[in-house]
Amino acid sequence: MAAKGQKLTIEEKMKFIETQTEETALPALRELTLKNGCEYSCAIGPDGKVLDLVEGGKDENGRDVVRVPEIVDKAEPNSIILCHSHPDNTCFSIDDLNILCGYTAIKEMRVIGKNGKTYTLSVGEGKRPTADDLANTYKSIGADIYKPIGMKLEAKEITWEDAMAQLSIGIVERMVDECKWIKRWPTP
Ligand SMILES: [Zn+2]
Repeated sequence: MAAKGQKLTIEEKMKFIETQTEETALPALRELTLKNGCEYSCAIGPDGKVLDLVEGGKDENGRDVVRVPEIVDKAEPNSIILCHSHPDNTCFSIDDLNILCGYTAIKEMRVIGKNGKTYTLSVGEGKRPTADDLANTYKSIGADIYKPIGMKLEAKEITWEDAMAQLSIGIVERMVDECKWIKRWPTP
């Protein structure tokens, strides 16, 4: 039985929680995304075990949105690794950065794209800007670095999907510098 609108059955969810670990979670989330087309997010506790798995949805503009497992709300500071999967090859979205900065329980955030590339980010001693500040910075860096990517797109040297991936990686790398976050990527 699946919950209303959910593609993942309760049995699949329980099996994931019981069998996946910190080491295996990202590729397993990617498999689910390739199968069902939406984002998946799981919280991993200090012992490396999966605590919960949730399915993402779409917002009113049809954009993929990641949901945060409820357990992250109640967890101790710096205790959770939040892993999720993207249906495209983009790096962290503005929503992801909001989640990372908004929940002190998140020690580290990891994302895996459709192509299997993974990105890992933590705040460390860095800044936690407000949602408004994050949105403004994300937008202004995007406007700043879009031009060369847009030109390649127009010349059909890259696909739309590649362009969006390059743009998101460029934006997040600049934000990492500005906010003094800690990043680990790219990893194969
Ligand atoms: Zn994301």
